[in-house]
Amino acid sequence: MKDNCIFCKIANGEIPSHTLYEDEDFRVIFDLGPATKGHALILPKKHYDNIYALDDETASKAFLVAKKMAVAMEKAFAADGFNIVQNNGEPAGQTVFHFHMHLIPRYKGDNAIDFWKPGSTTDEELTILEEKVKKEL
Ligand code: AMP
Ligand code: ZN
Repeated sequence: MKDNCIFCKIANGEIPSHTLYEDEDFRVIFDLGPATKGHALILPKKHYDNIYALDDETASKAFLVAKKMAVAMEKAFAADGFNIVQNNGEPAGQTVFHFHMHLIPRYKGDNAIDFWKPGSTTDEELTILEEKVKKEL
């Protein structure tokens, strides 16, 4: 646990929450400012600032929890769609610096999320970007 981290406190039960799911490593709670009905958050019980800090095992388990919750929540809320969102760093919209995944049920016509405007690129640019990433893998 990290001092003064609200999600550490919630994930470890120090602050009570409506808990949709819990196991040894994660707690799933409702978002305090839901984008849509049922918007929830997957919180690891251990503190990681963001996705870059995750170990492979936690990363794998987090997505299994996401899948399990998406299946259950889609049925429970009769959702018409589902977004899984995960923000890293302030420019990407992260406001709580304890890794978390958003589970956002979507309903026809909700207009709840407007992620990005499609841009444009070139084959040349994609070749450069591809090479840069491959060097880091
Ligand atoms: P992000 O912007 O990806 O860091 O997401 C942080 C999310 O945490 C926001 O959607 C907030 O509404 C939510 N949030 C902040 N504090 C709490 C809290 N105490 N309990 C539940 N959700 C919270
Ligand atoms: Zn934390």
